[in-house]
Amino acid sequence: MVDMDTLVSLCKRRGFIFQSSEIYGGFGSAWDYGPLGVELKRNVKSDWWRDLVQNREDIVGLDASILMSPQVWIASGHVEKFSDPLVDCKSCQRRFKADQVGDRCPECDGELTEARQFNTMFKTFVGPVEDEASVAYLRPETAQGIFVNFLNVQSATRRKLPFGIAQIGKAFRNEITPGNFTFRTREFEQMEIEYFVKPGTDEEWFDYWINERLEWYKRYGIREENLRLREHGPEELSHYSKATYDIEYNFPFGWSELEGIANRTDFDLRQHAEFSGKDMTYFHEETGEHIYPYVIEPSGGIDRAALAFLVDAYHEEEVKGRKRVLLRLHRDLAPVKVAVLPLLRNRPEVVALAKEIARDLRPHFVVIYDDTASIGRLYRRQDEIGTPYCVTVDVQSLEDRAVTVRDRDSMEQLRPSISQLKGFLLEKLRVC
Ligand code: ATP
Repeated sequence: MVDMDTLVSLCKRRGFIFQSSEIYGGFGSAWDYGPLGVELKRNVKSDWWRDLVQNREDIVGLDASILMSPQVWIASGHVEKFSDPLVDCKSCQRRFKADQVGDRCPECDGELTEARQFNTMFKTFVGPVEDEASVAYLRPETAQGIFVNFLNVQSATRRKLPFGIAQIGKAFRNEITPGNFTFRTREFEQMEIEYFVKPGTDEEWFDYWINERLEWYKRYGIREENLRLREHGPEELSHYSKATYDIEYNFPFGWSELEGIANRTDFDLRQHAEFSGKDMTYFHEETGEHIYPYVIEPSGGIDRAALAFLVDAYHEEEVKGRKRVLLRLHRDLAPVKVAVLPLLRNRPEVVALAKEIARDLRPHFVVIYDDTASIGRLYRRQDEIGTPYCVTVDVQSLEDRAVTVRDRDSMEQLRPSISQLKGFLLEKLRVC
């Protein structure tokens, strides 16, 4: 498995991920996605959205605002309970999450202070006056935007149970110990579904969603042996949860959470009903009853998913005595789908034809045109960023109007005609 230093260096060198504010020495575990990283992340999000919203009848989307009434976070329990136990080392002053250390400081073996609770929600002020009345929070999860809109969405779409509301968006947590590259940051993106079901059917749906989400990661190329499920023990469960399973990935720094699937019961809807004074129940036509649905929540992080996809795709092999580094990213996730490369960059007719081919493909795929090195090096560059197909234009192409298409994984080369190239690639890269 790739080590983190190698991956971080590839990410920076090739434009996947840069350190935030790097020219000022960086900024506390914040990261910027570069030209390739932004494509990878967009692909993770659009695959998720396509599979879970567009391709399903029972889930609709939402994009709620990040800033919400502070009452939301009082009702949800976050103001009171969304905290981590914090300890300081009396000698080196380092700060740790109490549940991640033993009795002594892991850095200098110094004595630790008593644990105290630290709320990890970011606070800010709305408007010009910085007083208690203008406090607002940056959302620590996207879920609450869904709960408070439950009835709006249900009545606008006339959905019947079971149905889900999906949302992708930024969330913020003032983590005490961020780290491991983009794994734990203070600003991150979540992809969450709140799936509303009839009480009593929640356990079946819980199992269903655990399986669906595991299969989803596998479908996009994560190897089965690098995924496992872990059940939360009673002391670890969030304040709203009846049961939670984490899908864990075997990261280079150890097995860690990729996504959590929680049975949130009817906790959130009941809390919002109580605090807002509004009726948050669902009218069950068949029985004529007003009920609070139960909620199953698959909640994943896009940054963690993107990191796991990169780790899993990284591959080194030896070809003709040379090291070949490649990202075997699933074709849907690969940031660039097709690279068009002229074999001879000093032959204007070859260059012109290659540029014309790239231009014709661009409306259909993310395409790169590159003529800045020899063909061997150009192939290596594309392998390293996971481009599934390289199209090479050579002198022969001027005559036979055909090009060489090289497959990233097998390195097999085929020679379709230029007129068939688009159809050929569309077929190879079609959505699965
Ligand atoms: P952890 O135990 O790692 O702190 P969590 O259990 O608090 O995570 P959840 O509240 O279940 O996380 O959030 C759902 C998902 O959001 C996580 O599975 C993860 O993918 C993502 N996520 C949560 N916190 C962070 C973070 N600080 N940085 C990046 N992604 C995060």
